Amino acid sequence: MNVLVINAGSSSLKYQLMDPDTGAVSAKGLCERIGLDGKFTYKAGGKTVIDAQDVAMPTHREAIEAVLAALVNPEYGVIKSMDEIDAVGHRVLHGGMAFTESCLVDEACKEAIRKCIPLGPLHNPANLMGIEACEKVMPNKPQVAVFDTAFHMTMPAQAYTYAIPYEYYEKDEVRRYGFHGTSHRYIAGRALALLGRENNPEGTRIINCHLGNGSSLCAIKDGKCVDTTMGLGPLAGVPMGTRCGDIDATILEYLMGRYGYDIKEMLTILNKKSGVLGISGVSSDFRDLEAAAGEGNARAQLALDKFFYEVRKSIGAYAAAMGGVDAIVFTAGVGENGIGNRAKIMEGLEFLGAKIDPEKNNTRGVEAEISTDDSTVKIFVIPTNEELMIAKDTAALATK
Ligand code: ADP
Repeated sequence: MNVLVINAGSSSLKYQLMDPDTGAVSAKGLCERIGLDGKFTYKAGGKTVIDAQDVAMPTHREAIEAVLAALVNPEYGVIKSMDEIDAVGHRVLHGGMAFTESCLVDEACKEAIRKCIPLGPLHNPANLMGIEACEKVMPNKPQVAVFDTAFHMTMPAQAYTYAIPYEYYEKDEVRRYGFHGTSHRYIAGRALALLGRENNPEGTRIINCHLGNGSSLCAIKDGKCVDTTMGLGPLAGVPMGTRCGDIDATILEYLMGRYGYDIKEMLTILNKKSGVLGISGVSSDFRDLEAAAGEGNARAQLALDKFFYEVRKSIGAYAAAMGGVDAIVFTAGVGENGIGNRAKIMEGLEFLGAKIDPEKNNTRGVEAEISTDDSTVKIFVIPTNEELMIAKDTAALATK
């Protein structure tokens, strides 16, 4: 079976053609600068066949057309015709309270995604454009929407409720939603398998640290999400590459008053100029920060220390929330590759029974157990695979 997995942003579109059973990816790539000029990248057989080539992409439709043309190209394509694509799976950011799981795209599903635009104003319109472009180019092909928020819908009210007047929840659906849900769900499955508990998750307590450009932690009890660090939007939680994470709302009033910023300018600062970039003034990229800190840049070091501290604190908080922890997992760019970062985060968490093994921790980008033999908490590195989850959901719903 072949599932085309699409992650559509406002000006970009990532794609993978994948076998949902084996996870094998036959082709993948990226459309960039949609709506501007258009650049197309296509990889197949582990090689970059087309590298940022100029292809006119006034809308997402032309982007999808370029993807299909490459996939069926007689010279470097991986399928003979579009008929060999069984279904299309889309990553959708915000499912609001409407979606607790993935759904087959129909008019009602699209309308529900549209209704969530106020909650995901940057992503949901682009996700919808991706869906509608596929409908036009591949009519009658089953399409499935997979939501970043869905995995978190099992959170109890005490975790998702904000302490503001309750009417804003009742009338306006203001609550914690959480993101990276597809990644957290994939990791939950893998971690349970590594614990030998995939068939009886009852009683297990897992903390997943998805640490990338955007970062979130998830407390997973009995295989289900019970808390997560992101909130109504993806700005909350631990500090990120350029996002501030949790801050005191008073800061907004104070800075807006002092500098005359309007709310849009203020949010641009908090979304794009904050996080480890904001503290360091160096970069949002953790490799750059490590290099700068290594050369004695004190603010780069402070940015790293702040990040480690907040991640460590959130691990402690989730251990408290679940009455203990059986496994701590690191995933995404920093979690999978940041050897020193993982060690720093785990420093001081020995009281939980979690001990990292420096030798086993010397690993990058592969599934590994990195705790010492006498650690009562297992510590794992697990490369995330959101696309595989999307492909699996898509296959399951499309063949129902
Ligand atoms: P996104 O949230 O955009 O998907 P990723 O999960 O790809 O981001 O993570 C990107 C981050 O991973 C960057 O900050 C990058 O510096 C970091 N990263 C990648 N490789 C390493 C490494 N070897 N050591 C430390 N950090 C790394």
